[in-house]
Order: sequence, then structure tokens, then C-alpha cells
Amino acid sequence: MMGKVYLQLWGLIMKKGHVKTGSIIDIVTDPFGLTYNEIYDIIGEPGSKILYSLLYKNISQRESHTLWIRDIFRDAGTAKYIFELPDDKCIETVCIKRKTGMTACVSTQAGCPVQCIFCESGREGLIRNLTASEIVQQVAFLKGQINRIVFMGIGEPLYNYDSLIRAIHILRDRDGMNFPTDGITISTVGPIKPLKKLREEHIKIQLILSLHATAQNVRDYLIPGMRGNDINETVKTALSYSKRHGRKLVIAYLLLPGINDKYSDIRQLVEWFKHENVMVNLLEYNQTNQRIIKRINKQDIERFKNKLESNGVEAKIRVSHGNKIKAACGQLAGKYNRAAQKFS
Ligand code: SF4
Repeated sequence: MMGKVYLQLWGLIMKKGHVKTGSIIDIVTDPFGLTYNEIYDIIGEPGSKILYSLLYKNISQRESHTLWIRDIFRDAGTAKYIFELPDDKCIETVCIKRKTGMTACVSTQAGCPVQCIFCESGREGLIRNLTASEIVQQVAFLKGQINRIVFMGIGEPLYNYDSLIRAIHILRDRDGMNFPTDGITISTVGPIKPLKKLREEHIKIQLILSLHATAQNVRDYLIPGMRGNDINETVKTALSYSKRHGRKLVIAYLLLPGINDKYSDIRQLVEWFKHENVMVNLLEYNQTNQRIIKRINKQDIERFKNKLESNGVEAKIRVSHGNKIKAACGQLAGKYNRAAQKFS
């Protein structure tokens, strides 16, 4: 039924002669990759308004989308969507319930080139970058429910820079989805070059730096894809982003017993962040099959947090959601992609 309306609308637009050939192909094949203004430039009024609202309402019933929901897993306030891409690869989008709404944890790549040792997404390396449209569609599917977007799903967002920035413009588009800038966060391991580029953009989004270590050798071990990025310069660049945009910088720090929970780690975190507009989010590891690293116990994480706070650094223990449905990034999509490889 909705598909019929879509086709009728196209018939009407073509008859009206608004169409600029070439661009029409973009709209028909990949409408979620365009801003409202771009659609308006191609087909004018009223077609653009009608098309835009048709696109984003009831996306799951439309023929225009290129992602399909392959599975949904739910666990107390958390839902994990496994989306299948046109080339049969899978990604994950996690929807987390908060007191004031829902957060969508969105993927920017299939697989990940960074290969953090604690993360399932990185196990097979990068499969491919997502297009801006594939990033936007993850949000469009959940639109009615969410008021915050975090680019913290599968992939390193800054390694898919152009698609990420384009997707943010489409999401923020005042005449389109009109998602508030305040509600958008990028979580990154902080590759220095694209981080500096992001600092110069005119988009005031929140930044989370996944730091996870205070010494170069420990970071190189935990986050192999960041070797060659000096840890001090990474921190300095992230702080300069926070100053330029007047935003609190969030530091994600996955506490791993015996690896990055020493007194020297506290000392270094205090030295970097004591007088800064920074919050350190302490995370617990979502246990997977991986045996090298272990989950920290409650008392030790509390102790670490108290030490930071008594030395003047704001710190919080972040509650881990959806353990039962393997909500830590990549744990399920990785399984689907590996299974697909086996049978291909
Ligand atoms: S934690 Fe993030 S950056 Fe690291 S491998 Fe996983 S998806 Fe990539």
C-alpha cells in the first residue's frame, strides 16, 4: 500500500517537470542519504515535504530503505537490533532506556579496523564503511523512541569521517528529522588527525574519548589500531575540542584488573584532568568468551572512583546495560557475520 503511494508520488513529480535528471536516481535509490534541502532542490514543493514525511514515517513498511531488521534481542530496558545490509553483512544498533528517554547506540562501520582486545567488533577487522544513508536509517527505524544518539556502536566513527559528518547533517536537518545537536555524541578512540579536523567543524556535539590507559605501551596493547598516536597528544587534542566547543569532555575508561587500575594510572588521570571540564566514566567489562581480560570487582572500581574524586577529578561508574543480550559492541553482529562467512 505505502509502496503504491510512493510510486504515485513519483509519477506526480515527474509530470510536474521539477525533476533534475541524475539527482532523481539518488533519491530513488538512496533517499536517506540526502538532506531535506537537497531533495527540495531536486523536486521542489510540495513533493519534497510529502516525500520526506512519507520516508521517515513508517520506515519499516517502505520499499526505500536498504537495511532490514534481521533480529531483535531485548533485556530490561535494552533492545539490540541486528540490521542486515544489502551485501548481507550485519551491524548492531542498541536502544537503551534512560530516565529521560531512549539512547540509540549507532554503528558507523561493519567490523572495525581498531581491533581493541576487549571488543568483539574488532575481531575480524574492518569489513566496510557504512554510507551516510545506512547510518541515518538506523536512527530512522527507532525514531519515535529516541532522544539521544551516541556513535558508539560498531566501528570507529572518525575512520568513516565523511559519512559520519554527512549523517549528522541529515539527522540535524531542521526541515527533516530535526534531531537536537545537544543529543548527539561521538565516542572515539581518538585518532589525532581526524580528531583535529572534527575540532574545526561547526557542529557542537558531545565527545567521548575512549582512553582506557594512561601509558603508551598499555594503550598500544589494548587498542592496537591506535599505535602511532601519541597518548599525550590524543588527550591534549580532545581537551582542545572541549574548550573550543564549550563541552564537557567524557573520558571512557574500561577498568581492567592488573592492566590499567594501578596507583600510577590514578596519578596520571589526575595530572591530565584535575582542572579541566572533564568527567571520567569508569566502565566494567562485559564478559565475553575472551579469557585474557577479566571483569573488575565492585569494591575495586569504587575505590578507583573515590581516589579520582578525592583528587579533584569528576568520576562516575557507568552501569553496564544488557549483559544478558550481549550489548557490548559487536558481540552479536560479529556472530552473524562469522556464520555468514562459514556458509558462503
Ligand atoms: S571498541 Fe570501538 S574502536 Fe575498539 S574495536 Fe570495538 S568498535 Fe572498534
